Amino acid sequence: MIRAVKGTHDILPPESAVWNRVESTAREIFDLYGFSEIRTPVFERTELFARGVGEDTDIVSKEMYTFEDRDETSLTLRPEGTAPVVRSYIEHQLYQDPQVLKLYYLGPMFRRERPQKGRYRQFHQIGAEVLGSDNPAIEAEVLEMLELFLGRLGIKESTLLVNSIGCSRCRPRFLQRLKQELAAKKDLLCEDCQRRSETNPLRVLDCKVESCQPIIDGLPSILDFLDDGCRAHFDKFLSYLKERGIGFTVIPRLVRGLDYYTRTTFEITSRILGAQNTLIGGGRYDGLAELLEGPPTQGFGFALGLERLILVVQQTGNLMASLPPQLFLAPLGEAAFARSTLLARDLRRQGIRCAYDFEPRSLKSALRLANKLQAQFALIIGEAELHSGKFQLKRMSDGEQVEVSAEQLVERMRG
Ligand SMILES: [Zn+2]
Ligand SMILES: [Zn+2]
Repeated sequence: MIRAVKGTHDILPPESAVWNRVESTAREIFDLYGFSEIRTPVFERTELFARGVGEDTDIVSKEMYTFEDRDETSLTLRPEGTAPVVRSYIEHQLYQDPQVLKLYYLGPMFRRERPQKGRYRQFHQIGAEVLGSDNPAIEAEVLEMLELFLGRLGIKESTLLVNSIGCSRCRPRFLQRLKQELAAKKDLLCEDCQRRSETNPLRVLDCKVESCQPIIDGLPSILDFLDDGCRAHFDKFLSYLKERGIGFTVIPRLVRGLDYYTRTTFEITSRILGAQNTLIGGGRYDGLAELLEGPPTQGFGFALGLERLILVVQQTGNLMASLPPQLFLAPLGEAAFARSTLLARDLRRQGIRCAYDFEPRSLKSALRLANKLQAQFALIIGEAELHSGKFQLKRMSDGEQVEVSAEQLVERMRG
């Protein structure tokens, strides 16, 4: 037997219906906020991610699916969505549009991580990017959009964590101080943090290892190092959240380990996910476009892992896996079967979900199947009904039965 590759998974019915519902909800809500979809290729030149994500990140150093094309170009299956969007933005000169550009994407990403529950090597993300604005109001608006999105999915219990990580002018002072403090406590840090304390000290703040927590708690807060511009930006962002009635908690240790991230960062977490509880992560990345040889462009965006979101939706959401048929057709005999196939065709053309069995069944067994499928109504089509052109419509919930013509049937089903 040939099995799916380790770390990949099939999305089967009825779960695939939940995926469709989540994706269509995202499209609907993002559209309300003026976001348009962008679809970039699943593979790109390796250098895009080496530069755009960073050589010294886990993603680039050990998780990418990189291969040589037949012409020896190094290609990589995209491990994330932001760098390709910004690459496309630069390539197609989308910055020439004087308006702020709002884009969203949706699709598979690839990282060769150690497979564990809810983590896959081919996983799916929904993300959005706002390009060309450094206004904190746009950040608050994106969070308002996410609140509406999660609400529509029935996810009520989520927490918004926010922070500012400053800019290239004020952050170096903080990093210097962080390095000093970490150097003094180096022996107490976990192995990864010992390395990070020199290469990328900001990422120490991100460490989940138990023994590092008391040390991290004692480190200086980046919020005390913000310059006036970053301070004002952060205060405005928070006041816009308050105006919109969006609850939040400021977490000074909430950081992103990549240099091009600036100012606002955020995470939305859900208790349902347990220890690794991040549902959505995002922030401002004003330096990325320049890093990719584009014009200076302010950017703000987020990404969410669909596998994890769907886990939460399935536990708390009110999305049904798939909708049951509105009408089950129960033909009795061959002539009635032929009539019911045409009836089903006409009903489906009018947008009514129908089901019927291709094998002959007795009335009793047909109604049993209708029940099993949770059909709202069953339509009985027998010899007599064929002649009179009137059918017996039975409501499955209480067994109430009325006689209807084909035209009345459509009206009934619509109502
Ligand atoms: Zn600053
Ligand atoms: Zn650590």
